[in-house]
Amino acid sequence: MSAKEKIRVATLWLSGCSGCHMSFLDQDELILDLAKKIQVVYSPLVDTKTFPENVDVTLIEGAVANEEQQNLLKEVRAKTKILISLGDCAVTGNVPALRNAWEDGGKLALERAYLENTEVNKQIPRAVPALLDKVRPLHELVKVDYFIPGCPPSASVINYALTELLAGRTPNMEGRSKYG
Ligand code: SF4
Repeated sequence: MSAKEKIRVATLWLSGCSGCHMSFLDQDELILDLAKKIQVVYSPLVDTKTFPENVDVTLIEGAVANEEQQNLLKEVRAKTKILISLGDCAVTGNVPALRNAWEDGGKLALERAYLENTEVNKQIPRAVPALLDKVRPLHELVKVDYFIPGCPPSASVINYALTELLAGRTPNMEGRSKYG
């Protein structure tokens, strides 16, 4: 099968810890079967800087915490046929959404990170993307086609979902354990 015929897959890392991407890689030898059928066209694992057109499947780790991520998510949605919300941060907001408990949690988070927890150069950098008032799970901002919950999600469930999609079948995620 040539690279042209392969399924174009992207992965994206928003506000998350990278644990979901580690789980993706934890598919062990099963990932070798996938590798024969997919071409990774955008990912923290590859060097492409611009999200490409005509992506077949995109898996997104992490919640949406700032305007830059919100804009990227909308661009990705417009360029992707099947979008998968990967892991509890993407599915529910999870850890990044803890700041939602406070009225101005974004401001408090910046102050905590850049003013309270540092001894030198206490200042909030201007280059930090503007934070959203609340951290959002993906489906509150764009249409999501499939959800793979878990913190991190199970490597075997990720493999099941991708294998089914690559075979042109609809993965049945109902009742599937978060932990494989
Ligand atoms: Fe990390 Fe868990 Fe969030 Fe995945 S769901 S990004 S493993 S905290």
